[in-house]
Amino acid sequence: MARANAAYYAERDPFQDFTTSPEITQVFGELLGLWAAVVWESMGRPDPVLLVECGPGRGSLMRDARRAMAQVAPGFHGAHRLHLVETSARLRGQQAALLAGAVWHDGVETLPAGPMIVLANEFLDALPIRQFVRRGDGWMERHVAGGALIEAPAEGPGRVAAEGEVVEVCEPALAFAGWLGSRVGAQGGAGLILDYGPAVSAVGDSLQALQGGRPASPFGAPGAADLTAHVDFAAVAAAAVGAEAHGPVQQGPFLARLGLFQRTGVLARTQKGPEASRMVAAAQRLAEPDRMGGLFKVLALCQPGLPTPPGFE
Ligand code: SAH
Repeated sequence: MARANAAYYAERDPFQDFTTSPEITQVFGELLGLWAAVVWESMGRPDPVLLVECGPGRGSLMRDARRAMAQVAPGFHGAHRLHLVETSARLRGQQAALLAGAVWHDGVETLPAGPMIVLANEFLDALPIRQFVRRGDGWMERHVAGGALIEAPAEGPGRVAAEGEVVEVCEPALAFAGWLGSRVGAQGGAGLILDYGPAVSAVGDSLQALQGGRPASPFGAPGAADLTAHVDFAAVAAAAVGAEAHGPVQQGPFLARLGLFQRTGVLARTQKGPEASRMVAAAQRLAEPDRMGGLFKVLALCQPGLPTPPGFE
């Protein structure tokens, strides 16, 4: 999964196969920029402060966030230093066109020291999972061989499951959470993770492939499809030792509390008919419970003692 996705993000335009919240409406990035500004205030306005985005895609989220910061939170805008964690050279090129002054990293290890605010939208779902299957009183792990799944005896994930059930573990996501927890715990700051998955750890195979905007076999053409799996938010929160977790909450109420519909209304009033209704429809797509508003969750991991961040009240 890691190698297939590395090839996929290196060579393809992922946004032909799927769309993400920042590509649906500019308001998404604007609200997250203002979320970060409020958190920065509550941290005591450190200057400089690192603003980090993991997996920035086209750069749209951060472009919209920075525009809102410049207008509404000039102090934060002046203090922030932008760092992007991105492995795809292709996408780095697109990000550079929108995000002046950014510094890129292959991984979080090379980020400079200091207080920081981290945003990660649809980042953890792209990281490779392992799948374990409960068999008898032991576990098998699924491996890919010859384009199909085989099972081999394994130690197992340390979870409870019934016969034949699949349990997924995303070790890089847990390592990321562990890093974030110790980092904000020791040096201050907060992280905001938005992605799809259950709030409470679940069982089942959630590996999915999207190719040409349609579901595909994950094994059909490695590197040609986007591979993702649901994020186990409970496991991510538990792995973030050193941080205080807020949420996960559903994306719909989170964005509504941040002012999704008010801001969309203000923008829509400046537009002509079809564009105004498109903006309202985009906000509904992000927020409605049976669309992205319910499946997507939001988790904040904050330095201990920080007030409850916006959207989690
Ligand atoms: N956040 C963006 C893009 C989501 S797609 C949006 O919401 O539109 C996933 C992003 O993570 C892409 O930018 C991809 O290149 C990046 N990515 C995937 N695996 C990565 C890894 N292991 N390390 C760093 N970036 C990665």
